[in-house]
Amino acid sequence: MIDFWNDAPLAGGCIAGGREYFHINNKGDVEPCIFTHFATDNAKTKSLRACLQSDFFRAIRARQPFNENLLMPCMLIDNPWVFREIHAQCNPYPTHAGAESLVGALAPGLDAYAGHLAEMMAPAWQEDWIAQGRVWPFTPEPDAADAAGGAARPRAAERASDPLQRSAGRSR
Ligand code: SF4
Repeated sequence: MIDFWNDAPLAGGCIAGGREYFHINNKGDVEPCIFTHFATDNAKTKSLRACLQSDFFRAIRARQPFNENLLMPCMLIDNPWVFREIHAQCNPYPTHAGAESLVGALAPGLDAYAGHLAEMMAPAWQEDWIAQGRVWPFTPEPDAADAAGGAARPRAAERASDPLQRSAGRSR
């Protein structure tokens, strides 16, 4: 197993939402990863196959990788607007009290953190990865095409053919 945060460039970014991984808590809630405390399905009442094809998980997979800079892989803290968008689209329930602060009270602080992180990580990504050709040829699963609910952005498969295009910063 890859440490998908520190090794996200090797994993092609976040692997949550059933791309390579998901998490089931002790109540049976099927969460995108162990740190994403939201779900739309419970493994006690639905097959795992169906859970993996939920709108919630498909919306996550459709957006991976969440940032062209794979040193910023996370939809929760590196790109918090991504999870807010998915949350608004799919309306998952929180799997513990207080989880919704992630898309509420904590949002301004997370956005500020992500902004500072982007400034620091941009040169690192360019110099240590792009300039040295160390880009993983990530290809998303075929069914991810339209699950973003109209949030149009270049497909990762298309970007993967052009390392320089992959390195271009996001507009938000
Ligand atoms: S959402 Fe964030 S914490 Fe969860 S697997 Fe992806 S990168 Fe890791």
